[in-house]
Amino acid sequence: MRGSGPVLETINPANGEVHAAIGTPSSAEVEAICSDVSHSSALRSWQSMLPHQRAAVLHRIADGLVAGAEPMARAQMLENGKTLKECRAQAASAAGVFRYYAGVCETMESTMPPPRGNWLGLTTHEPYGLIAAITPWNSPLTMESQKVAPALAAGNAVVLKPSEVTTLPALELARICEEAGLPKGLLSVLPGYGTEVGPALIGHPDVRMVTFTGGTETGRRIGEQCARRLIPVALELGGKSPHILFEDADIPTACEGIIDGIFEGLGQSCIAGSRLFVHRSRMEEVLERLTEMTEKLRVGLPTDPNVDFGSLSSHQHRARVEQYVTLAREEGATVLVGGSRPTDPALAAGAFYLPTILTGLSNRSRVCQEEIFGPVLCVLPFDDEADLIDQANGTAFGLACGIWTADYRRGLKVARAIAAGTVWINTYKKLSIAAPFGGYKDSGLGREKGLAGMRLYQQTKSILLATE
Ligand code: NAD
Repeated sequence: MRGSGPVLETINPANGEVHAAIGTPSSAEVEAICSDVSHSSALRSWQSMLPHQRAAVLHRIADGLVAGAEPMARAQMLENGKTLKECRAQAASAAGVFRYYAGVCETMESTMPPPRGNWLGLTTHEPYGLIAAITPWNSPLTMESQKVAPALAAGNAVVLKPSEVTTLPALELARICEEAGLPKGLLSVLPGYGTEVGPALIGHPDVRMVTFTGGTETGRRIGEQCARRLIPVALELGGKSPHILFEDADIPTACEGIIDGIFEGLGQSCIAGSRLFVHRSRMEEVLERLTEMTEKLRVGLPTDPNVDFGSLSSHQHRARVEQYVTLAREEGATVLVGGSRPTDPALAAGAFYLPTILTGLSNRSRVCQEEIFGPVLCVLPFDDEADLIDQANGTAFGLACGIWTADYRRGLKVARAIAAGTVWINTYKKLSIAAPFGGYKDSGLGREKGLAGMRLYQQTKSILLATE
């Protein structure tokens, strides 16, 4: 279906050219699609299928994702400018997510609460029915599979609204699901602008749960709409995550983790470690090493296997990153490295930007408080552990944190004091589909991934049977 809403053009950010023109649904079409799916016999039979039968379909989708990894990876690269290398790794991880939830689907058990009378209790978990999933542009290959796989495993149908910046990976995913034998209608993709398709989708009375990944302000608006409808919502939102480098850390290893932690994906990652707190006694050598390593990073065409990073996801987003670097200068920052576009004329038409390191800012500056979502690292010194913890926790966000120290006792103590959903010690950005993920404070509500990631898409029912 082409849809009678406005045509959406996606742009290849590496060259500024229109990559695809995609039809979008009108509000009336959103309404009709949601109603059709939620009253469909496909959804009824999916819900009544035994878990191992649903798992078999999820395994076939995983097989399809392995076979179709290259077109999936290219679809993402052409719309968000990440290197093909990184997109391929993400496509591979999408297949792993479907396999993991096939396993969860087949093995998750219901429970029996201890009896308190002459009755037998059963705690069962049932699907909501129709789930709305809304995703951002930075890593659609992974974000979309992390929502679709557990929601389907849990027995739901999903209506997925991908970002207007990156629509094609979701359409590819739907094609692969259909080819793998997922009954028609159980995954519908509604391309479109957030403010048009989004509210129509969330407002549909048959949508019983919403799962969202994106910016904090959008999350707040979606949360408000869900609150009015009294439907549950899971929100994976922004971050301003601290890296903490104690004086006893292994500096070369820590610097590698710090560089990957902020610059991988050109900082367009919710868990980017964008504030680095370094013990004052090691500041000079750390800055020297980080500067040297950053100068060697290669930014270039996403198809070039020799580059570390491609372009930012759009020219509009680059303008936003540039505004933050201008603001940083106004706030008194020193730009140690980067702070500009690359000079290579071959990159002039793309949304490229150089990895940037700033010093001289206070943790209270706007640049240290607001999410830039770009390749900008702010480095700040610290002297004292208590003050460090206050500063590390001193933003509205609470998504992730990295701690670098040779003393595991100290590492654990600080990890417990940090208000964040994920804390890494002597590593960073290591993610597992088996580990729950989500934010504290303005970084979100609820946890995706892991066993709980499937329960997110189910409601709990108690059944009590008299035994006498
Ligand atoms: P965004 O909030 O602008 O958009 C996200 C999605 O929401 C898009 O599909 C958009 O079309 C839709 N949308 C916008 N307004 C809407 C509305 N009123 N109702 C319903 N849907 C609406 O975010 P973005 O710019 O696409 O992505 C970047 C943000 O995502 C960053 O803040 C980043 O931190 C966050 N993010 C978080 C995680 C996480 O797991 N915590 C992961 C990746 C990205």
